[in-house]
Parts: sequence; C-alpha cells; structure tokens
Amino acid sequence: METESAISFTETENQRLISQMIRDFGAREIRPKMMEWDESQFFPIDLFHQMGKLGLMGVLVPEEYEGAGFGYLEYITAISEIAKIDGSIGLSMAAHNSLCSNHILQFGNEEQKQKYLPRLATGNWIGSWGLTEPNTGSDSGNMKTTGIRADDYYMLNGAKNFITHGKSGNVAVVIVRTGEAGDSRGMTAFIVEKGTPGFSSGKKENKLGMRASETAELIFSDCRIHASQRLGKEGEGFIQAMKVLDGGRISIAALSLGIAMGAYEAALAYSKERHQFNQPISKFQGIAFKLADMATKIEAARLLTFRAGDLKNKGIDVTRESAMAKLFASETAVEVANEAVQIFGGYGYTKDFPAEKYYRDAKLCTIGEGTSEIQKLVISRSILR
Ligand SMILES: Cc1cc2nc3c(=O)[nH]c(=O)nc-3n(C[C@H](O)[C@H](O)[C@H](O)COP(=O)(O)OP(=O)(O)OC[C@H]3O[C@@H](n4cnc5c(N)ncnc54)[C@H](O)[C@@H]3O)c2cc1C
Repeated sequence: METESAISFTETENQRLISQMIRDFGAREIRPKMMEWDESQFFPIDLFHQMGKLGLMGVLVPEEYEGAGFGYLEYITAISEIAKIDGSIGLSMAAHNSLCSNHILQFGNEEQKQKYLPRLATGNWIGSWGLTEPNTGSDSGNMKTTGIRADDYYMLNGAKNFITHGKSGNVAVVIVRTGEAGDSRGMTAFIVEKGTPGFSSGKKENKLGMRASETAELIFSDCRIHASQRLGKEGEGFIQAMKVLDGGRISIAALSLGIAMGAYEAALAYSKERHQFNQPISKFQGIAFKLADMATKIEAARLLTFRAGDLKNKGIDVTRESAMAKLFASETAVEVANEAVQIFGGYGYTKDFPAEKYYRDAKLCTIGEGTSEIQKLVISRSILR
C-alpha cells in the first residue's frame, strides 16, 4: 500500500467554489422538483444540459476538449455535493463522467477524443457505458454479447442491462466479446452512437431508489460498427473496463459520501427541533450517540475517498484504495441513512421528510460498479497476492 502520499486536509479554493455553485444551483434547479422526478421516475435530461454549462459533465475532461480540466479532488467534491441534494442526479453525473467520458479519455485515439469528448463534456450529449448483461453482472468477464469481425466492420449481437442512460444516452461505450468465451483478453470496447441501425434500447427498470436516474437495457441486433469505433486494440476491452472502474469506484464512494452527509445533516437538524418528553430528542443519549457514530463514519469515508482521489491524481494504481473507499463509503451511506430514518421516527417513513429518499438511494451504492462482496474480493486479492 502507498504510504508516502500526503493529503491536504484544507479545502482548496476550487473545491469551495464548486460546493457553493452546486448549493446555489441545487437549491434553484433540483430541490424544488426532485420528489416529483422521484415519484414519476422522470429523467430530467434538460438539467444535465444545464449542468454541462457549469462544467459538471466534463469535470475530469481537459480544457482542450471543452471540459473543466479538474482532478479527482474537485470531482469528489462535485459528485458529493450533488448527491447530498439528490443521489439520482449524482449517479447519472458519475456514470456520464467517470464511465463513458473517462473510457474515451483514457483509451480513445485523438480522432475519437476530438469527436466525442467536447459533446459529452459540454453536456450536449449524454453518455452511457455498458458492461453488465442480464446473466453476467459480477462475473462480467463471462459476457455473451458478441462482436464478430468481417473486414473493416464488427457485427454486434446481444444485450446489456442495468445501463444508466440506456434510453436517453446519445452515445454508449460498450464492451463485447470478440474472442473466445471465458478469455479475459477476448473482449473489446466500442463507441456506438444512438441511431446506429441494429442498436436500440429495451426495458427501463422500475427501481427502489435513484429513480430519476434512467436505467435501461441496450439491445444489439446485427448492429454493424466500423472498426474506427473500436477503443484501443482488439482484446483490450476487459482490462480497459477494470481500469475505468478503478476511477468509477471513487465516484461511487463520493456519491455515497454525499448521500450520507445529506441524511446526517437532515437528521441532526431534526433532532434539535423535535421535542419529546419536554426536550429536544438530541438531548437523549440514545440519539446523540447515533449522531456521533454517523459523523465519525462519514469522516472516515471522506478520508478514504479523498485519499483514493489523491493517489489517482498522482497516477498511482488505486485498485485497492478505490475498492476500500467504495466499500466503506457505500456501507456507511446505508447505515447513516438507516439511522436517519430512525431519528425522524414515523415522519422518517413518510415522503414529507427527506430521510426515506436517502435510505432508498443509498442502497444502490453497495451494488453498482461492483457489489460490496466484489470490493472485498478485489481488496483481499490485493492483500493476499
Ligand atoms: C441503478 C443501477 C445502475 C447501473 N448502471 C450500470 C451501468 O451504467 N453500466 C453497467 O455496465 N452496469 C450498471 N449497473 C449494473 C451493476 O454494476 C450490477 O448490478 C452489479 O455489478 C451487480 O451485478 P448483478 O446485478 O448481476 O448481481 P450478481 O452478480 O448476480 O450478484 C448477486 C449477488 O451475488 C454476489 N456475488 C456474486 N459473485 C460473487 C462472488 N464471487 N463472491 C461473493 N459474492 C458474489 C453479489 O455480491 C450479490 O450479492 C447498474 C445497476 C443498477 C442497479
């Protein structure tokens, strides 16, 4: 494990400005509508176009491709501040930035970067990223969607499911099997644009939480893709996906951190206002200790997340650190949101108060981009190798 990295515990000016901008934007554009979006599972695509204008759809994309050109510390701040307001918006922002755009940024050639990154970074286009299939989630290396080469083209057949922006995405990065079944070097990544013949979307999921983030199937039926849409070399797809997930998991840790902070702050404020037995419930040790545990776990999640981001900024391998951050922060989000509902009592179980939404949204964080069990697999393999 890397030990020489020193994290600054002081928020940078950029981080402070990003937080303030998101708080203002969120109060105006997200808070008033988010329960309506949640109720109706409405994906607010116009909001993401607006977020593009603020640099939030290309946080890590260099300025030469019209991105904000920030690093992971600013990115963690941005995702967590958005998620503190609405986890759904944070999830969509994370999938767009760190999965789709980042895959093209890391592994695209200059022509691909010039063509796609400005559209994605400005939020004019929404991106999706397809690895998961109906029968292969954790075991993604066993995928069945195929890409068969014939001359300068690949014919894609199969389906990807649970894909964020599966319907509304203008472009998808998808990883398909181009080699032998079971061979981790037999998979290749492609950029596929919406409207390509043979490429369509299928079922949109009706979800427990993260309901304003669209999750749907991608379907490939004799979808002919030119070899110029391939990312990197044939056979590199799985390795590329794992590298993309190293960064993606930092974004899910940030998402978790934001949800936990939102739930904690709501519960803290409520505990001071709600009176029982002639005193605020925060005066009861049973409630005060819950708040102490919540605050301590959030601080630990914050440190792990920023540490992973700091190492990533330095170009150090973060497979273990991003898995640790994602595991701890996501489990913390679930625990904190659960305690927040408890502190709100009966009101916590209603949609008139924010706790129930944090509780529903938090659970996704222990599943998406690798479940908690898979994070433990990644961490233990790195410890035991
Ligand atoms: C809202 C949402 C958005 C998503 N967005 C995307 C996206 O944009 N792109 C994309 O590609 N995917 C996306 N996913 C898919 C997500 O990454 C998968 O759901 C996740 O990786 C788990 O796969 P699975 O659902 O098939 O579960 P499974 O792999 O079937 O796992 C079921 C259970 O078995 C456990 N398990 C499996 N293998 C092991 C093992 N070796 N050891 C111990 N336990 C194990 C798991 O931890 C889990 O508890 C999204 C999912 C959701 C719900």
